[in-house]
Amino acid sequence: MSTLRFSALKNLPYMQPKNVEVPKKLSELYCQNVFSEETMRAYLTQGAYQSILGAILYGKKIDRSTADQIAVAMKDWALSKGATHYTHWFQPLTGSTAEKHDSFFTPIGGGKAIERFSGSMLIQQEPDASSFPNGGIRNTFEARGYTAWDPTSPAFVIDTTLCIPSVFVSYTGETLDYKTPLLRALQAVDEAATDVCQSYFDKNVNKVFSTLGWEQEYFLIDSALYLSRPDLVMTGRTLLGHAPAKGQQLEDHYFGSIPTRVLNFMKELEIESMKLGIPVTTRHNEVAPNQFELAPLFEEANLAVDHNSLLMDLMSKIAVNHGFHLLLHEKPFAGINGSGKHNNWSLATDTGENLLSPGKNPKKNLQFLSFFVNSIKAVHDYGDLLRSAVATAGNDHRLGANEAPPAIISIFTGSQLAKVMDELEKVTEGKLSPDEKTDLKLNIVGKIPELLLDNTDRNRTSPFAFTGNKFEFRAVGSQANCAEAMTVMNSIMAYQLRIFKKDVEVLIEKGLKKDEAIFNILRDYIKASKKILFEGDGYSDNWVNEAEKRGLNNKKTTPEALKFELEKKFIKIYEDLGILNPVEIKARNEIKLENYSKWISIEAKTLGDIARNHIIPVAVDYQSKLVENARGLKELFGENEMKAMCKEQLDLIKTISNHITEIKSSVDRLFAEREKAGQIENPEKQADAFCNKVKPIFDVIREHSDALEILIDDEMWPLTKYRELLFTS
Ligand code: ADP
Ligand code: MG
Repeated sequence: MSTLRFSALKNLPYMQPKNVEVPKKLSELYCQNVFSEETMRAYLTQGAYQSILGAILYGKKIDRSTADQIAVAMKDWALSKGATHYTHWFQPLTGSTAEKHDSFFTPIGGGKAIERFSGSMLIQQEPDASSFPNGGIRNTFEARGYTAWDPTSPAFVIDTTLCIPSVFVSYTGETLDYKTPLLRALQAVDEAATDVCQSYFDKNVNKVFSTLGWEQEYFLIDSALYLSRPDLVMTGRTLLGHAPAKGQQLEDHYFGSIPTRVLNFMKELEIESMKLGIPVTTRHNEVAPNQFELAPLFEEANLAVDHNSLLMDLMSKIAVNHGFHLLLHEKPFAGINGSGKHNNWSLATDTGENLLSPGKNPKKNLQFLSFFVNSIKAVHDYGDLLRSAVATAGNDHRLGANEAPPAIISIFTGSQLAKVMDELEKVTEGKLSPDEKTDLKLNIVGKIPELLLDNTDRNRTSPFAFTGNKFEFRAVGSQANCAEAMTVMNSIMAYQLRIFKKDVEVLIEKGLKKDEAIFNILRDYIKASKKILFEGDGYSDNWVNEAEKRGLNNKKTTPEALKFELEKKFIKIYEDLGILNPVEIKARNEIKLENYSKWISIEAKTLGDIARNHIIPVAVDYQSKLVENARGLKELFGENEMKAMCKEQLDLIKTISNHITEIKSSVDRLFAEREKAGQIENPEKQADAFCNKVKPIFDVIREHSDALEILIDDEMWPLTKYRELLFTS
């Protein structure tokens, strides 16, 4: 009997909303627990404060004695917030954040002790890191790694621990985390974009930041119901489960009123986010039942990435306070929308301009167009790398399946900008006539802001869409670390901008004026990038066919998509920009492949166990009940009469038998294939085997199990059903 399921549902007090009081002004909480610029100014000497600002803004080094000063100030502030411990907070390639707490407490002899924290403790730590993923790097080199303070992301206090955002590298210098390559990519795009700005548009620009505004989707499931589903507990998604009568077809959940218990979760989350300096501003119901979204104001990309990692952690902890379990998996429920994390990306100058926002005069608009067209060219030339950056076992369910966005990388610009690009394509080669120049300036470039003002067309089916003053990369998975996507985006943009600068310089050397040269190059780029521009329905079969004709890749699975990373041209980009060396690229690629294989393997084992231990026994029990009933009727009425009376029951007995047999043989096959795949040593071949031999069997088992779910007595079914999971809040 399914006692768990019903005791959970009956346990109503558990589901009573816990009321959360929100202070009148959320703004007063903002950065309360952050060693923010304002706090630093209060706690640091002027010299130390300037030094840390220099590090934040221009990557300047902080000397040792200043670091000591900063450490003491940080400790004093942290103690005032009730901290007793400190930790380097970093993002290893496991996908979650890591922390190892050390106490400030230091005995000084004679039974006395003090709180101590020095510059060297601030700057560097050595976590016992041999059990973090390293793709063989630290087997070949040295089995030690260290974390180093990243002063560009402020320290913060959670509970009683001072957390210091850090990078994680091996002693021989190989990067073992998400943050290091991101910081390098941000530096590369800063250099390339600043150079372009200074050379052609604005001498006052000294720094270009990448900005990121993520939108986090998630599901909340009642904790008790969550615990009653071994597949959710083990894998974060349901491996079985018949679709409920009511799914999302009524479209009644999106932007609907937020259930009280969920609202209280959101309130508490917002309060805690504010204190940690995460500027969350938007919350709403998403398309699927029990699915929600949260978005902050955009920030500098490194900070935004840290804030997203921190938030994911915070969300799962706060969910527990409200009797919920947080699901960040990309596809927790079959047949119901999955979750993503749109990454809104742009570039901004230290003079306060958004480079992907049209300006007030033709010159600023040419700047806008240059960055806009270069973004398109970058995604055109190197979009495959973006595809591989979002490849995970979980995200395969979204990208490869019949739900947004597809695995084909294309760009939506909106019809207005498409028209502008059509005009630019007509620019004459070489020198421009005075008339043409005037026309370009007044009628094309000059009109852009007006055009965009009424540009309301939005295309939700495009993986990479221009949305007025930023691009929105929609293929990122909900549980992903945004650093990967941002590293790729900023790297390919940096690389492209370097090429742009060279291309323009060649024409200037040939005697063209700056503007003429830029127009010429933009025209060439637009012509060369045509195949990636797509304004239509990205979900349609037509697009799949069309994209194939255009020669665009459509790699639906992780093992396929990850092959891109090892292509020579991509390795060269990372090498040239100094982001990652070939050893690191290979190691990271292997970690991802292994991670993929591990997940499929865990899912296979979980599914097989549930089928054997839960589904088959219950199906047999129910079948016995039917058999018992038929036998009883036979005793009472004789065989012929019983057969006439029980025709449907007898058929049902056979149908159930058939499903049981299929499940049984499929599980045997599943375990055999899993075993075989597990023994393959080459990570690429192993991932291929898990993808093509193991995973397809999931569907067969599911089909038969889901069929049994609707045949068998509801009281007996051993797993909490979709309707309970999805409509209890
Ligand atoms: P949507 O309609 O896609 O839900 P919104 O207009 O609400 O999007 O904005 C989505 C996100 O885009 C927000 O997190 C916002 O901060 C972010 N955003 C806005 N401008 C920029 C920018 N210049 N750079 C990066 N992100 C930005
Ligand atoms: Mg969006």
